[in-house]
Amino acid sequence: MDKEKSKEELLKEKLFYKKENAFDIEDKDYKSSVSDYADGYKKFIDSSKTEREAVVSAVKMVKEAGFKEYFLGDKIVAGENYYFNNRDKSLYIFRAGTEPIEKGIRICAAHIDSPRLDMKQHPLYENEGMAYLKTHYYGGIRKYQWLTIPLALHGVVTKTNGERVNITIGEDECDPVFCITDLLPHLAKDQATKPLESAFSGEGLNLLIGSEPYAKCDEAVKLNMLNILNEKYGIVESDFMSAELMAVPAGKAKDLGLDKSFILGYGHDDRVCAYPAITSIIENKNSEHTIMCILADKEEIGSEGVSGMKCRLILDLIDEISKSLGGNASVVRANSMCLSADVSAGYDPMYPDVFEKRNSALMNCGVVMAKYTGARGKSSTNDASAEYVALIRNMFERDGVIWQTAELGKVDAGGGGTVAMYIANQNILTVDLGVPVLSMHAPMEVIAKNDLYQAHKSFCAFCK
Ligand code: MN
Ligand code: MN
Repeated sequence: MDKEKSKEELLKEKLFYKKENAFDIEDKDYKSSVSDYADGYKKFIDSSKTEREAVVSAVKMVKEAGFKEYFLGDKIVAGENYYFNNRDKSLYIFRAGTEPIEKGIRICAAHIDSPRLDMKQHPLYENEGMAYLKTHYYGGIRKYQWLTIPLALHGVVTKTNGERVNITIGEDECDPVFCITDLLPHLAKDQATKPLESAFSGEGLNLLIGSEPYAKCDEAVKLNMLNILNEKYGIVESDFMSAELMAVPAGKAKDLGLDKSFILGYGHDDRVCAYPAITSIIENKNSEHTIMCILADKEEIGSEGVSGMKCRLILDLIDEISKSLGGNASVVRANSMCLSADVSAGYDPMYPDVFEKRNSALMNCGVVMAKYTGARGKSSTNDASAEYVALIRNMFERDGVIWQTAELGKVDAGGGGTVAMYIANQNILTVDLGVPVLSMHAPMEVIAKNDLYQAHKSFCAFCK
């Protein structure tokens, strides 16, 4: 029997904000859409553990959807779909819309690099009959998390004649894996009393790669390792100098939980936004708007360099698109808008002290908008305007997107940044939007399938 709602209850319904949970969606097909979409995502991240691999996966997806390769200087035709492969490390996928270009471009910008351990230029050495590779960590990691887990080696070696050798060891069932060893608890009495910062050193992150000597001679294990690499890949020690080799967690992403509602995997930050950015531009490949999906590199280390978001390539591409479609690039930029598609910290009830719950992203409550990021009083952030946030809110309400807003933890608890400010600095309205993650930057991170699916829905709402 329905009880009549009281006046206060009705007024609360009208005035109070209530965060939605995706599990409250009643549509019976919703659950299977979420799970099918998550299956596609898992395949994507399993084959995209480095920025180079993510570019290969993304190019395959957009090629199959009919996007054509674009080269700087090519004429761009309204109504056509393109992708620009920037040196195999970042990718710009775009649709030239049929409406006037001076209405602006709608940009979704995610990044495809993730924290990991890069090999040094002289990585290989032998110590007491064991061979190691020395690493220099990439991005913000908690060093102890990378010890004693199976690691795979991914990357490229480029020889002086330009020949590029792709290397992946540790992903195939028959492949060996590598590991960084840790101290046994029996002998860790001193280490255990040290602060985390000093208990684990960067120079201690050395990958154990073998122990069998080639013959009875000096550095026989090192020699054997080089011989194995030489037989398989044709490389010699000096080739490490022109290589990009990285250790990443070995193995595939897995469903997490009895209900399979989460995914545990490497590099959700930020492939969990990159994948929906790709699928949403594919889904909107007939849009009247000009839309662009950027998959950037180097976000984890400051967005510098030719493949990072600070590179002027984005301006060059907007110039080229504007010129081809008969618009003024300054006007195009001024009327463009961007979602900086990056992850946020999911509220973790295991660590309530670092969060302010009212302004945290709850798992399964949809995609998260961060109006601003930064640290120490909003330093180094793009603080999106009220007007722009209202515009995005309107799109999400129109399309029934489940979304929430959040800050990255408590005021002064820490902080972080994204590519948002570099794009906004080019006079393009920008706001951060992405998926909440638990254990961000750990070798294995956790996301909720509901939130992943809502990211796809939100990017589609933005593109259409
Ligand atoms: Mn990120
Ligand atoms: Mn990150």
